[in-house]
Amino acid sequence: MKSLLSALLLALVCTTSTLAADKTPDPKATKPKPYILTLCLVSDEKVDKGDPTFIYKGREIKVCCEGCVKDFQKDPEKYLKLIEAAEKKLAEDKAKLPK
Ligand SMILES: [Zn+2]
Repeated sequence: MKSLLSALLLALVCTTSTLAADKTPDPKATKPKPYILTLCLVSDEKVDKGDPTFIYKGREIKVCCEGCVKDFQKDPEKYLKLIEAAEKKLAEDKAKLPK
């Protein structure tokens, strides 16, 4: 019985290492970067659950209303820069917090 268990364990280890080695990035499996801001980029209104969310360049974008979706699509690069700046600021504020 003991040998059966070790055989099973060995099989498990083999399977796990095979899986780890086979790390081909699957674009479908990559999750979009979540939208971490609480405000709509376009109007500065608070965004809530159920507000329009879409994916732009692998990044989740959340705005407060359909009109803002249109505004974003008019000039996506501009808003993308705004998100990046806001995220950077958030990260900096976080780093400043006392540990
Ligand atoms: Zn809006």
